[in-house]
Amino acid sequence: MEDCIFCKIKLGELSSTKLYEDGDFMIIKDINPVAKIHLIAIPNEHYSGLDMQTEEGAIVLGKILHKIGTLSDELGLSNGYRLVINQGKDAGQTVQHLHIHIIGGEQLHNL
Ligand code: AMP
Ligand code: ZN
Repeated sequence: MEDCIFCKIKLGELSSTKLYEDGDFMIIKDINPVAKIHLIAIPNEHYSGLDMQTEEGAIVLGKILHKIGTLSDELGLSNGYRLVINQGKDAGQTVQHLHIHIIGGEQLHNL
């Protein structure tokens, strides 16, 4: 998608700090962190959100969750972390390419 920041990052047209990448998705540092560690897991496939997800997309999302679990120590998140998907306007989604926020590195406020 031409105007998508995350697609541009994936293609190397925009810089980012990439911590992990495979054939399905990448993990980058968020440029505006809300906690000591704030990463974003971004599927390679461009679609705006869960309402546009295919079954294949859901399988990739499952793989991402599995990978986050196995990478957590390496990412500095051994004490725990929070995963967030902002879906749509009411949640304040600003980038219309589905992504999962990975937030941690410190004690987070209870939801
Ligand atoms: P959301 O509000 O859920 O759509 O989240 C979008 C996130 O992308 C925000 O936390 C932004 O700080 C982050 N973001 C926007 N542009 C970039 C970028 N160029 N590199 C890394 N993170 C970005
Ligand atoms: Zn995109």
